[in-house]
Amino acid sequence: MAVLGHVDHGKTSLLDKIRGSAVSEGEAGAITQHIGATAVPLDTVSQMAGSLVKPEDFDLPGLLFIDTPGHHSFSTLRSRGGALADIAILVVDVNDSFQPQTEEAIDILKRTGTPFIVAANKIDTTPGWNPQEGAPIQKTYEEQSQRARSKLDEKLYEIIGELSDRGFSSDFYWRVQNFQSNIGVVPVSALTGEGIPDLLGVLMGLSQRYMKDEMAIDVAGPGSGTVLEVKEERGFGATLDVVLYDGTIRAGDTIVVGGANDPIVTEVRALLQPRPNAEIRTEKRFDKVDEVRAAAGVKIAAPDLEDAMAGAPVRVVGDRDLDEVVREVEAELADIEVTTEEEG
Ligand code: GDP
Repeated sequence: MAVLGHVDHGKTSLLDKIRGSAVSEGEAGAITQHIGATAVPLDTVSQMAGSLVKPEDFDLPGLLFIDTPGHHSFSTLRSRGGALADIAILVVDVNDSFQPQTEEAIDILKRTGTPFIVAANKIDTTPGWNPQEGAPIQKTYEEQSQRARSKLDEKLYEIIGELSDRGFSSDFYWRVQNFQSNIGVVPVSALTGEGIPDLLGVLMGLSQRYMKDEMAIDVAGPGSGTVLEVKEERGFGATLDVVLYDGTIRAGDTIVVGGANDPIVTEVRALLQPRPNAEIRTEKRFDKVDEVRAAAGVKIAAPDLEDAMAGAPVRVVGDRDLDEVVREVEAELADIEVTTEEEG
């Protein structure tokens, strides 16, 4: 899933809080930091969410958060049907409400028909707020003064009104019966962690409902992914940070990547994962791995990647016909260009 919203509304802080509290639950090893994504396994989600997520109710491996992909790559991930970004969290600062990038995100969510929830962030800034670190929203709400509660209600109703102006009916998430016809608004604080258990609970519920079929991805097949970034790395030249949403990629595989001109056909020289706690100046910032399976983030080193584009598809050829895969990548690129024009 992806986190969208206006700059400074708290996307990064929210992800950091989820990562941070997962780590402080003593499960440091359980959080997997991929390139461009963070996987939080079911057990960890459930520890963080308390009674709101019971592991026995879910047959999902957990939650995979794409690290702030930007609207464009989100749109691409979604339009390619990648299982990674099938749900979105729209972060809205309760003090600022809707801003230009909130509008942009809403347009994309609408156009792609992506199920989403709204994280109404920074509730701790409500005048007179008495923070209850990490508490579920209803518990902390009950602890607040009448004045603080009605101040918060006022701000939340403003967000609900904005959503309504754009054709979305929404309500506080605990009143929502059907998340398909109603957007759930979850009041949270990325600073105090209030409402985070609720957010995780709602996300798990939504994932279970919407992703089950699409989660049945073929991890053994040839890998499919999307380029998040093209980056120069010392010793490797131009590399790709890729979110792999389907199949497997191996060192030595022939891949086709969308480029500024023609699709690039090249061979994977190395698959790289960031080294835990690697210091910036140390030589070895990455570990080489032999293969990576979806869903995951990975850095790909290969010759001729200079012209690769963020947002473009990456395909492992496998035992398919190379020309066929090249045509597939060309067709997808044409799609993306159309999408970009629409956005612009
Ligand atoms: P992004 O641009 O959407 O990723 O926003 P950031 O996560 O960088 O947050 C922008 C600013 O808002 C930072 O100074 C954060 O410390 C602050 N911030 C984010 N979430 C909260 C919150 O829940 N409460 C308060 N008080 N500040 C927050």
